[in-house]
Amino acid sequence: MTDAIGPPEAEAGGILTIDLAAIVANWRALSERAAPAQCAAVVKADGYGCGAEQVAGALAKAGCTTFFVANLPEARRARAAAPDATIYVLNGVLPGTAAAFAHANLRPVIGDWLGWDEWNAFRADSGWRGGAAFHVDTGMSRLGFSAEEVRQLAPARNNDHGIALVMSHFACSEEDHPLNAIQMQRFHEIRGLFPGIPGSLANSSGIFLGREAHHDLVRPGVALYGANPTPGRPNPMRTVVTLHGRIVQTRDVAPGATVGYSATWTAKRATRLAIVSAGYADGFPRAASASDARPGAEAIVAGMRCPLAGRMSMDLMAFDVTDMPAGKVARGDLVTLLGDGIGVDDLAARAGTIGYEVLTSLGRRYRRIYRG
Ligand SMILES: *Cc1c(COP(=O)(O)O)cnc(C)c1O
Repeated sequence: MTDAIGPPEAEAGGILTIDLAAIVANWRALSERAAPAQCAAVVKADGYGCGAEQVAGALAKAGCTTFFVANLPEARRARAAAPDATIYVLNGVLPGTAAAFAHANLRPVIGDWLGWDEWNAFRADSGWRGGAAFHVDTGMSRLGFSAEEVRQLAPARNNDHGIALVMSHFACSEEDHPLNAIQMQRFHEIRGLFPGIPGSLANSSGIFLGREAHHDLVRPGVALYGANPTPGRPNPMRTVVTLHGRIVQTRDVAPGATVGYSATWTAKRATRLAIVSAGYADGFPRAASASDARPGAEAIVAGMRCPLAGRMSMDLMAFDVTDMPAGKVARGDLVTLLGDGIGVDDLAARAGTIGYEVLTSLGRRYRRIYRG
Protein backbone atom coordinates (compact mmCIF):
# COMPACT_ATOMS: atom_id res chain seq x y z
CA MET A 1 0.00 0.00 0.00
CA THR A 2 1.24 3.50 -0.80
CA ASP A 3 -0.45 6.69 0.35
CA ALA A 4 0.65 10.23 -0.31
CA ILE A 5 -0.16 13.66 1.07
CA GLY A 6 1.06 17.16 0.28
CA PRO A 7 1.94 18.78 -3.04
CA PRO A 8 2.30 16.73 -6.23
CA GLU A 9 5.75 15.24 -6.69
CA ALA A 10 6.73 17.53 -9.57
CA GLU A 11 5.99 20.65 -7.48
CA ALA A 12 7.46 19.56 -4.15
CA GLY A 13 10.86 20.79 -2.99
CA GLY A 14 11.37 17.49 -1.24
CA ILE A 15 9.86 14.04 -1.09
CA LEU A 16 9.70 12.40 2.31
CA THR A 17 9.04 8.68 2.36
CA ILE A 18 7.95 6.99 5.58
CA ASP A 19 8.22 3.21 5.50
CA LEU A 20 5.44 1.98 7.79
CA ALA A 21 6.43 -1.64 7.12
CA ALA A 22 9.88 -0.82 8.52
CA ILE A 23 8.27 0.72 11.63
CA VAL A 24 6.25 -2.48 12.10
CA ALA A 25 9.39 -4.60 11.55
CA ASN A 26 11.25 -2.50 14.12
CA TRP A 27 8.41 -2.90 16.61
CA ARG A 28 8.43 -6.68 16.07
CA ALA A 29 12.21 -6.85 16.52
CA LEU A 30 12.00 -4.86 19.77
CA SER A 31 9.06 -7.04 20.92
CA GLU A 32 11.15 -10.16 20.38
CA ARG A 33 14.08 -8.71 22.24
CA ALA A 34 11.90 -7.70 25.19
CA ALA A 35 9.72 -10.86 25.35
CA PRO A 36 8.08 -12.05 27.51
CA ALA A 37 7.59 -8.37 28.36
CA GLN A 38 4.99 -6.63 26.19
CA CYS A 39 6.09 -3.97 23.75
CA ALA A 40 4.21 -0.67 23.61
CA ALA A 41 4.88 2.15 21.12
CA VAL A 42 5.59 5.80 21.89
CA VAL A 43 3.89 7.98 19.26
CA LYS A 44 4.24 11.42 20.86
CA ALA A 45 5.28 14.46 18.82
CA ASP A 46 3.27 13.29 15.80
CA GLY A 47 4.86 9.87 15.92
CA TYR A 48 8.36 11.42 16.10
CA GLY A 49 7.51 13.47 13.03
CA CYS A 50 6.41 10.43 11.02
CA GLY A 51 2.64 10.91 11.43
CA ALA A 52 0.88 9.78 14.61
CA GLU A 53 -2.25 8.42 12.90
CA GLN A 54 -0.35 6.47 10.28
CA VAL A 55 2.14 5.03 12.78
CA ALA A 56 -0.42 4.17 15.47
CA GLY A 57 -2.75 2.70 12.84
CA ALA A 58 -0.05 0.49 11.34
CA LEU A 59 1.20 -0.69 14.73
CA ALA A 60 -2.30 -1.37 16.08
CA LYS A 61 -2.96 -3.50 13.01
CA ALA A 62 0.31 -5.36 13.67
CA GLY A 63 -0.82 -6.20 17.20
CA CYS A 64 0.49 -3.37 19.35
CA THR A 65 -2.06 -2.77 22.11
CA THR A 66 -0.46 -0.01 24.20
CA PHE A 67 0.58 3.49 23.13
CA PHE A 68 2.18 6.42 24.92
CA VAL A 69 1.76 10.08 23.94
CA ALA A 70 2.72 13.35 25.64
CA ASN A 71 -0.62 15.12 25.99
CA LEU A 72 -4.38 14.95 25.46
CA PRO A 73 -4.54 16.31 21.89
CA GLU A 74 -2.00 13.69 20.83
CA ALA A 75 -3.93 11.04 22.72
CA ARG A 76 -7.13 11.81 20.80
CA ARG A 77 -5.28 11.38 17.52
CA ALA A 78 -3.86 8.06 18.69
CA ARG A 79 -7.33 7.02 19.86
CA ALA A 80 -8.81 7.73 16.43
CA ALA A 81 -6.16 5.49 14.85
CA ALA A 82 -6.25 2.76 17.51
CA PRO A 83 -9.82 2.57 18.87
CA ASP A 84 -9.22 -0.45 21.12
CA ALA A 85 -5.74 0.31 22.42
CA THR A 86 -4.64 1.32 25.91
CA ILE A 87 -3.31 4.87 25.63
CA TYR A 88 -1.18 6.53 28.31
CA VAL A 89 -0.61 10.29 28.49
CA LEU A 90 2.91 10.88 29.79
CA ASN A 91 2.49 14.50 30.89
CA GLY A 92 -0.42 13.53 33.13
CA VAL A 93 -3.57 15.38 34.17
CA LEU A 94 -3.42 19.14 33.68
CA PRO A 95 -5.79 21.10 35.95
CA GLY A 96 -9.41 20.59 34.91
CA THR A 97 -8.73 17.89 32.32
CA ALA A 98 -9.60 14.67 34.18
CA ALA A 99 -13.01 14.32 32.52
CA ALA A 100 -11.40 14.50 29.08
CA PHE A 101 -9.39 11.38 29.92
CA ALA A 102 -12.54 9.46 30.70
CA HIS A 103 -14.27 10.83 27.62
CA ALA A 104 -11.73 9.26 25.26
CA ASN A 105 -10.87 6.35 27.56
CA LEU A 106 -7.28 7.49 28.16
CA ARG A 107 -4.96 6.82 31.08
CA PRO A 108 -2.96 9.61 32.69
CA VAL A 109 0.58 8.99 33.91
CA ILE A 110 0.50 10.57 37.36
CA GLY A 111 3.68 11.69 39.08
CA ASP A 112 2.78 14.13 41.86
CA TRP A 113 0.27 14.57 44.67
CA LEU A 114 -1.68 17.39 43.03
CA GLY A 115 -2.31 15.29 39.95
CA TRP A 116 -3.06 12.27 42.12
CA ASP A 117 -5.61 14.20 44.20
CA GLU A 118 -7.27 15.71 41.16
CA TRP A 119 -7.55 12.30 39.50
CA ASN A 120 -8.93 10.65 42.62
CA ALA A 121 -11.47 13.45 43.18
CA PHE A 122 -12.64 12.95 39.62
CA ARG A 123 -12.89 9.20 40.11
CA ALA A 124 -14.89 9.65 43.32
CA ASP A 125 -17.30 12.15 41.70
CA SER A 126 -17.78 10.40 38.39
CA GLY A 127 -17.41 6.75 39.25
CA TRP A 128 -14.91 6.46 36.38
CA ARG A 129 -12.76 3.36 36.81
CA GLY A 130 -10.34 3.63 33.90
CA GLY A 131 -6.78 3.11 35.10
CA ALA A 132 -3.80 5.41 35.52
CA ALA A 133 -0.05 4.88 35.55
CA PHE A 134 1.93 5.77 38.64
CA HIS A 135 5.23 7.42 37.68
CA VAL A 136 8.15 7.09 40.07
CA ASP A 137 11.35 9.08 39.70
CA THR A 138 14.44 6.89 39.92
CA GLY A 139 17.06 9.39 38.77
CA MET A 140 15.73 11.57 35.96
CA SER A 141 14.41 14.33 38.27
CA ARG A 142 11.79 15.39 35.76
CA LEU A 143 8.40 13.82 36.42
CA GLY A 144 7.39 11.25 39.00
CA PHE A 145 6.99 10.69 42.73
CA SER A 146 10.18 10.37 44.77
CA ALA A 147 10.91 6.99 46.34
CA GLU A 148 10.08 8.58 49.71
CA GLU A 149 6.66 9.73 48.50
CA VAL A 150 5.94 6.27 47.13
CA ARG A 151 6.65 4.70 50.51
CA GLN A 152 4.19 7.14 52.12
CA LEU A 153 1.53 6.19 49.63
CA ALA A 154 2.06 2.45 49.70
CA PRO A 155 0.55 1.71 53.13
CA ALA A 156 -2.49 3.87 52.33
CA ARG A 157 -3.30 1.95 49.17
CA ASN A 158 -6.62 0.23 48.96
CA ASN A 159 -7.91 -2.19 46.36
CA ASP A 160 -9.52 0.56 44.35
CA HIS A 161 -6.49 2.77 43.74
CA GLY A 162 -6.86 2.47 39.95
CA ILE A 163 -3.11 2.08 39.36
CA ALA A 164 -2.74 -0.07 36.25
CA LEU A 165 0.98 0.44 35.70
CA VAL A 166 4.00 1.53 37.75
CA MET A 167 6.61 3.21 35.63
CA SER A 168 9.90 5.07 35.66
CA HIS A 169 12.22 6.46 32.99
CA PHE A 170 15.96 6.12 32.30
CA ALA A 171 18.13 9.22 32.14
CA CYS A 172 21.12 7.71 30.26
CA SER A 173 20.07 4.39 28.75
CA GLU A 174 21.90 5.06 25.46
CA GLU A 175 25.20 5.36 27.36
CA ASP A 176 27.24 3.01 29.47
CA HIS A 177 26.52 5.06 32.61
CA PRO A 178 26.51 4.02 36.28
CA LEU A 179 23.08 5.64 36.76
CA ASN A 180 21.51 2.84 34.68
CA ALA A 181 22.23 0.16 37.30
CA ILE A 182 21.16 2.52 40.09
CA GLN A 183 17.83 3.25 38.38
CA MET A 184 17.22 -0.46 37.72
CA GLN A 185 17.87 -1.27 41.39
CA ARG A 186 15.63 1.56 42.62
CA PHE A 187 12.81 0.54 40.32
CA HIS A 188 13.13 -3.08 41.38
CA GLU A 189 12.70 -2.02 45.02
CA ILE A 190 9.75 0.24 44.26
CA ARG A 191 7.93 -2.49 42.37
CA GLY A 192 7.94 -4.53 45.55
CA LEU A 193 5.54 -1.96 47.01
CA PHE A 194 3.01 -2.60 44.22
CA PRO A 195 2.52 -6.36 44.15
CA GLY A 196 0.56 -7.59 41.16
CA ILE A 197 0.76 -4.30 39.27
CA PRO A 198 2.70 -4.38 35.97
CA GLY A 199 5.89 -2.33 35.73
CA SER A 200 7.53 -0.40 32.88
CA LEU A 201 10.99 1.14 32.80
CA ALA A 202 12.71 0.82 29.42
CA ASN A 203 12.65 3.23 26.49
CA SER A 204 14.32 2.19 23.19
CA SER A 205 17.89 2.08 24.48
CA GLY A 206 16.74 0.65 27.80
CA ILE A 207 15.55 -2.47 25.96
CA PHE A 208 19.21 -3.12 25.11
CA LEU A 209 20.28 -3.00 28.77
CA GLY A 210 19.09 -6.57 29.29
CA ARG A 211 16.35 -8.43 31.09
CA GLU A 212 16.64 -6.45 34.30
CA ALA A 213 15.40 -3.39 32.43
CA HIS A 214 12.39 -5.04 30.76
CA HIS A 215 9.82 -5.66 33.54
CA ASP A 216 6.31 -6.15 32.05
CA LEU A 217 6.09 -3.46 29.38
CA VAL A 218 8.76 -1.68 27.33
CA ARG A 219 8.19 1.76 25.78
CA PRO A 220 10.29 2.29 22.66
CA GLY A 221 9.99 5.48 20.67
CA VAL A 222 12.97 6.57 18.61
CA ALA A 223 14.15 3.06 17.62
CA LEU A 224 10.78 2.38 15.98
CA TYR A 225 11.58 5.24 13.61
CA GLY A 226 14.98 3.86 12.65
CA ALA A 227 17.35 5.80 14.93
CA ASN A 228 20.13 3.78 16.52
CA PRO A 229 19.28 2.82 20.12
CA THR A 230 22.87 1.57 20.62
CA PRO A 231 25.09 4.54 19.67
CA GLY A 232 28.65 3.49 18.91
CA ARG A 233 27.50 0.04 17.79
CA PRO A 234 25.88 -0.96 14.47
CA ASN A 235 22.27 0.17 14.16
CA PRO A 236 20.00 -2.87 14.61
CA MET A 237 16.92 -1.01 13.34
CA ARG A 238 15.57 -0.74 9.80
CA THR A 239 15.60 2.63 8.03
CA VAL A 240 12.19 4.31 8.14
CA VAL A 241 12.74 7.80 6.75
CA THR A 242 14.01 8.66 3.29
CA LEU A 243 14.20 12.24 2.08
CA HIS A 244 14.87 13.37 -1.47
CA GLY A 245 15.45 17.01 -2.42
CA ARG A 246 14.99 18.49 -5.88
CA ILE A 247 17.78 20.23 -7.78
CA VAL A 248 16.46 23.61 -8.98
CA GLN A 249 19.65 24.84 -10.63
CA THR A 250 23.25 23.83 -11.26
CA ARG A 251 25.93 26.50 -11.57
CA ASP A 252 29.69 26.81 -11.97
CA VAL A 253 31.66 29.16 -9.74
CA ALA A 254 35.28 30.27 -10.06
CA PRO A 255 38.01 29.54 -7.50
CA GLY A 256 37.79 32.15 -4.73
CA ALA A 257 34.02 32.62 -5.06
CA THR A 258 32.14 32.36 -1.79
CA VAL A 259 28.89 30.45 -1.42
CA GLY A 260 25.86 31.40 0.63
CA TYR A 261 24.99 33.80 3.44
CA SER A 262 27.88 35.35 5.36
CA ALA A 263 30.32 33.97 2.76
CA THR A 264 31.56 31.24 5.09
CA TRP A 265 32.57 28.79 2.34
CA THR A 266 35.09 29.51 -0.40
CA ALA A 267 35.52 27.55 -3.64
CA LYS A 268 39.11 26.25 -3.66
CA ARG A 269 38.88 25.19 -7.29
CA ALA A 270 36.53 25.66 -10.22
CA THR A 271 33.39 24.32 -8.57
CA ARG A 272 30.08 22.99 -9.78
CA LEU A 273 27.14 23.46 -7.41
CA ALA A 274 23.74 21.79 -7.31
CA ILE A 275 21.17 24.02 -5.59
CA VAL A 276 18.55 21.89 -3.84
CA SER A 277 15.10 23.17 -2.86
CA ALA A 278 14.98 22.32 0.83
CA GLY A 279 16.34 24.22 3.80
CA TYR A 280 16.00 24.92 7.46
CA ALA A 281 12.33 25.86 7.04
CA ASP A 282 11.86 22.18 6.16
CA GLY A 283 13.37 21.16 9.46
CA PHE A 284 16.79 20.43 8.01
CA PRO A 285 19.14 21.45 10.84
CA ARG A 286 20.89 24.72 9.97
CA ALA A 287 23.69 23.79 12.35
CA ALA A 288 24.70 21.21 9.72
CA SER A 289 25.83 24.10 7.47
CA ALA A 290 29.35 23.94 6.00
CA SER A 291 32.14 26.52 6.26
CA ASP A 292 35.80 26.65 5.30
CA ALA A 293 36.57 25.49 8.84
CA ARG A 294 34.03 22.71 9.18
CA PRO A 295 32.20 20.25 6.90
CA GLY A 296 28.42 20.05 7.04
CA ALA A 297 25.68 17.74 5.82
CA GLU A 298 26.06 15.53 2.76
CA ALA A 299 23.75 14.47 -0.05
CA ILE A 300 23.91 11.45 -2.31
CA VAL A 301 23.82 12.71 -5.88
CA ALA A 302 23.56 10.03 -8.58
CA GLY A 303 25.11 7.52 -6.20
CA MET A 304 27.95 9.72 -4.94
CA ARG A 305 28.33 11.51 -1.59
CA CYS A 306 28.63 15.26 -2.11
CA PRO A 307 29.32 17.83 0.63
CA LEU A 308 27.20 20.86 1.46
CA ALA A 309 28.79 24.17 0.44
CA GLY A 310 28.18 27.13 2.75
CA ARG A 311 25.29 27.98 4.97
CA MET A 312 21.97 26.34 4.56
CA SER A 313 19.26 28.86 3.62
CA MET A 314 15.62 28.77 4.63
CA ASP A 315 14.49 27.05 1.42
CA LEU A 316 17.70 26.07 -0.37
CA MET A 317 21.08 24.48 0.06
CA ALA A 318 24.08 24.13 -2.23
CA PHE A 319 26.00 20.88 -2.72
CA ASP A 320 29.45 20.64 -4.26
CA VAL A 321 29.05 18.25 -7.20
CA THR A 322 32.36 19.10 -8.88
CA ASP A 323 33.54 15.48 -8.70
CA MET A 324 30.49 14.16 -10.52
CA PRO A 325 31.01 13.26 -14.20
CA ALA A 326 29.62 15.92 -16.54
CA GLY A 327 26.00 15.32 -17.50
CA LYS A 328 25.25 13.28 -14.36
CA VAL A 329 23.59 16.15 -12.48
CA ALA A 330 20.74 18.16 -13.92
CA ARG A 331 18.00 20.56 -12.96
CA GLY A 332 14.96 18.57 -11.77
CA ASP A 333 16.97 15.60 -10.49
CA LEU A 334 16.43 14.33 -6.98
CA VAL A 335 19.26 13.98 -4.47
CA THR A 336 19.12 11.85 -1.33
CA LEU A 337 19.29 13.88 1.89
CA LEU A 338 18.28 11.05 4.24
CA GLY A 339 18.47 7.33 3.46
CA ASP A 340 20.85 5.12 1.47
CA GLY A 341 23.34 5.21 4.32
CA ILE A 342 22.67 8.74 5.58
CA GLY A 343 20.76 8.01 8.78
CA VAL A 344 18.90 10.49 10.96
CA ASP A 345 21.72 10.02 13.49
CA ASP A 346 24.36 10.88 10.86
CA LEU A 347 22.64 14.11 9.95
CA ALA A 348 22.11 14.88 13.64
CA ALA A 349 25.82 14.36 14.37
CA ARG A 350 26.71 16.88 11.63
CA ALA A 351 24.48 19.40 13.38
CA GLY A 352 25.56 18.65 16.94
CA THR A 353 22.12 17.32 17.83
CA ILE A 354 20.34 13.98 18.20
CA GLY A 355 18.29 11.84 15.83
CA TYR A 356 15.19 12.62 17.91
CA GLU A 357 15.43 16.27 16.93
CA VAL A 358 15.96 15.52 13.24
CA LEU A 359 12.90 13.24 13.24
CA THR A 360 10.58 15.57 15.15
CA SER A 361 11.59 18.49 12.90
CA LEU A 362 10.81 16.73 9.61
CA GLY A 363 9.27 19.34 7.33
CA ARG A 364 5.63 20.02 6.60
CA ARG A 365 5.88 21.12 2.98
CA TYR A 366 7.42 18.01 1.47
CA ARG A 367 5.36 15.54 -0.45
CA ARG A 368 4.92 12.71 2.04
CA ILE A 369 4.69 9.17 0.85
CA TYR A 370 3.64 6.37 3.17
CA ARG A 371 4.76 2.88 2.16
CA GLY A 372 3.63 -0.42 3.59
C1 LIG B 1 9.80 9.70 25.04
C2 LIG B 1 9.69 8.69 26.11
C3 LIG B 1 9.91 7.32 25.82
C4 LIG B 1 10.47 6.85 24.51
O1 LIG B 1 11.85 7.13 24.50
P1 LIG B 1 12.81 6.72 23.30
O2 LIG B 1 14.16 7.08 23.80
O3 LIG B 1 12.39 7.56 22.14
O4 LIG B 1 12.63 5.28 23.06
C5 LIG B 1 9.65 6.40 26.83
N1 LIG B 1 9.22 6.80 28.05
C6 LIG B 1 9.04 8.11 28.36
C7 LIG B 1 8.60 8.47 29.73
C8 LIG B 1 9.28 9.09 27.41
O5 LIG B 1 9.12 10.38 27.72
